[in-house]
Amino acid sequence: MKKQLLIATFLSTTIVLPSLSKDLWSSALPSDADLIESLRTNTTDPGKGIKVKVRLQDSHVKHIPSEKIYFPQTVFEGPSDFQFIYGDDSRAFYREDGNYTTKRLYTDRLVKADSASVYGALRYSSNLFQEDLRTLLRVNPGQEPLRQATYQYTHSTTTSPLIYYIKGEEMQNAYYTRFDYEGETYRMMVMGYYKDGPWKTIYTAQHPDILWHELGHSIVDAARPDLFNDTYQAGAFHEAWGDTNALYTALSIPSMRRKVIGDTRGDLHQENFIAHMAERFGASVLRQDNGLRDLDDDVRVSDVSKQVHDLSRVLSGVIYDINVSAYETYMKKFGGIATEVLGQTSSLLRQEWVHTLTQVDAAPSFTDIGRTFQANFGAEGSKDALGLPLQSIIAEEFAKKDIVLDETDDSWGWDQVEGVTWQSAHGGSVKMESNFARAVAYKASKSE
Ligand SMILES: [Zn+2]
Repeated sequence: MKKQLLIATFLSTTIVLPSLSKDLWSSALPSDADLIESLRTNTTDPGKGIKVKVRLQDSHVKHIPSEKIYFPQTVFEGPSDFQFIYGDDSRAFYREDGNYTTKRLYTDRLVKADSASVYGALRYSSNLFQEDLRTLLRVNPGQEPLRQATYQYTHSTTTSPLIYYIKGEEMQNAYYTRFDYEGETYRMMVMGYYKDGPWKTIYTAQHPDILWHELGHSIVDAARPDLFNDTYQAGAFHEAWGDTNALYTALSIPSMRRKVIGDTRGDLHQENFIAHMAERFGASVLRQDNGLRDLDDDVRVSDVSKQVHDLSRVLSGVIYDINVSAYETYMKKFGGIATEVLGQTSSLLRQEWVHTLTQVDAAPSFTDIGRTFQANFGAEGSKDALGLPLQSIIAEEFAKKDIVLDETDDSWGWDQVEGVTWQSAHGGSVKMESNFARAVAYKASKSE
């Protein structure tokens, strides 16, 4: 099969650039109002849509029940919709009444309820992103980079819906990829599974953190396809975006905020399940309790190897710390109900993080990213900064990680970055060829 590959995995990444057609970057964009309309997440009549039981954390995190979430989207069997196509042969029981909540979810055993749960996790996080874009367009009318990225996002997700495999292939990994085949572009997410001892199989599809990380790659690639290039800067930003997408999705859910506040007594620098990424995976593969990665591990540039995956941890760690600092500052200054304050501060920071995604160039240094993010907030005391000194908070937290937000560039040279690039990091996966073939065949069967 002739194809061009583009892959971003949870652990490591391979990338071969596809030829992006320049005409996707349209100069004649729809109006702001049309762009806002194209992002609508409530597309059906009241009384329609579906209800899905969604797993919110993996089984290593105790006392987090799954949650029943309503989605107004029109769904067909899989579940699939106009932006997501379910790739596996075994699907959720199709429900005429749209109620997908009646079946039980199990640990380390993949059942049809997982199909619905994975769909729900992806749909929820995507809706969050789309609603953020809508808010940004309303607040910043006529802003070209924002309009371009929004147009590109709706174009990519509707013309190349994400084909997702929940039982993708046997590997201790998961990946997102885009490839061109016979003139068409395909976008695909493959969730791996692996044996843990003779009796147990662990599924990455049962790890919402991993789903939201891979979806983060998919969102970034849809909105900013030019960021999928082989520079270390783009690679580190992409990886950090995956983890921050998992972080922000979790923080947007009230029951998760209640639990993390309760677990830590409001001190979010205590060990907690929102900072820890993929706990079940980390426990089985690395034999550690704080997940595969810990966003609150406070690594600085000088602490990590100059490899793209290590560097991304510095950036996602800064974003975590900014969220904690904004929340703590608000509580000290104004007080309030902790879970609600955390919701308010994190959702503002999330929106402007989305805004930043639309604004940075295709090989952004950490300094560029920080300065762009910082400039999106009003001065201290202003309404669009929730009355907080967010510009100072952002500068301080970046500085703690050796990144000074002044006119100079990153203090380390990106040309000095060592080790694997996106191109060499991933050894290739055994079933990638057959997954491509399945995706192509499945898409063909849908359009027949
Ligand atoms: Zn990744």
